[in-house]
Amino acid sequence: MKDFEKVQFSKTDFIHYLKCPKSLWLLKHKPNIYPYGEFSDYAKKISAEGYEVEKYAQTLLSAQPDADTYSFQSIFQTERGLYARADVTRDNGDGTINIYEIKSSTSVKRGSQHNQIKDAAFQKIAAIEAGAKVASIFIVHLNKHYVRECEIIPQELLVIEDVTSEVADVEAETRTEIEQAMAILGQQEIDENSCTCLTLTKSNHCDAFDYFNPDIPKPSIYNLPRISKAKIAGFIADGLFNLNEIELGEVTEKQALVLKSAQSNEPVIDQTVLAEFYSKAKYPIYFLDYETYSSAIPLVDGARPQAPIPFQYSLHVKRTPDEMNLLHHEYLAEDAAMPLALIKHMQNNIDATGSVVSWHAAFENTQNKNMAEFYPDMADFLNGLVERTLDLEDLFKEGYVDIAFGGSTSIKKVLPVLAPDLTYDGMDVASGTDAMEAWARFINMSVGAEKDQLRDAMLEYCKLDTYAMVRIFEEIKRV
Ligand code: SF4
Repeated sequence: MKDFEKVQFSKTDFIHYLKCPKSLWLLKHKPNIYPYGEFSDYAKKISAEGYEVEKYAQTLLSAQPDADTYSFQSIFQTERGLYARADVTRDNGDGTINIYEIKSSTSVKRGSQHNQIKDAAFQKIAAIEAGAKVASIFIVHLNKHYVRECEIIPQELLVIEDVTSEVADVEAETRTEIEQAMAILGQQEIDENSCTCLTLTKSNHCDAFDYFNPDIPKPSIYNLPRISKAKIAGFIADGLFNLNEIELGEVTEKQALVLKSAQSNEPVIDQTVLAEFYSKAKYPIYFLDYETYSSAIPLVDGARPQAPIPFQYSLHVKRTPDEMNLLHHEYLAEDAAMPLALIKHMQNNIDATGSVVSWHAAFENTQNKNMAEFYPDMADFLNGLVERTLDLEDLFKEGYVDIAFGGSTSIKKVLPVLAPDLTYDGMDVASGTDAMEAWARFINMSVGAEKDQLRDAMLEYCKLDTYAMVRIFEEIKRV
């Protein structure tokens, strides 16, 4: 990037700067090596949802008696390069405008992750610098209590919140941050061999962590579960990143399990924990996994904004300890609908006795409880599932700890180690986010080969989720 002065600095850049100046510098100066990863995919989803909500906000404002005072997508560009596109502006008729920012969240997000107040402050500053007089600023967000019934009612779907004074409170600070951000972006070089997340836990690291910290070994102290910031700082002060250099006495009991595994390069197994888990598992065992869909605009009657609705499940049934040919049942909703048909399908395939096994079962149990609330007639069955559910992930917290899982208990980390012949790699649908995105396309496709192919890909993915559980369950049972 040769001359930053002539480059636009947008609101998206500013929010990126607030999250991490170095990451923004890398994106702007070296876009070819910037590691676009999961965070970028998530940002795309948020942005796509924003456009959807915007359509309803436009409908809402266009129906107001003062409809002709509203403008959509007004652009403010300033001498020094600030660039802001306001979702909606209102001409107040006295030389001032109001700015409306439309969000796909169900409340105003004030935390550092989204920082919608700073985001609005950037809009205001850009508008003022471009010559506008801003009277008020509003954030338009989704009403979390709205329940869809037939057509979407924009007046009920949306909440308009006045954030004028909150924005005023952070305006001076935001101006300073914009100046700092532009100064950093104007630098042709920065220190590319370290970054401030060095002292933070793994969950804070962005996709650029490895780029800025190429010398951190793998695995490292960041793979110790629930390690505190203070503990990380202590290790860094002593120059300790390599797990082989850390004493067992320096970490918590749970971290010590990962440490022992790293140092011995073997799994650490607690037979008591394993035995307790398997003693609770009663046959027939139902390995169950849901896929859910959540959208800013509720897809079907009965749904709320951003509330997940199960649209698919896979179920492997192991009737006896020695059974090799497991029954498999599956369901995929062909249309957007609340999950009544899915529940009935499950009722036909899950008997009144036996354990249900899920991975990260809190997710499946939340769906079961939500469905039980929505369908009181089905509550006994669904709440029964909750009571019968065992979480297979729990085994990997203390019963079977292997550094090969990278300090994680995600099935995506455990499966390649315990059943390397099974893989999600190369699948057309390979994650929950993929499944959600695929289903949104699927229900709008016309009948044909392309739809059939997508259906197969979705069924294959969910089936692998439960078959993976079966294999892991068996592998650990052998242990
Ligand atoms: S890992 Fe480094 S580049 Fe990424 S957010 Fe943290 S400080 Fe920024």
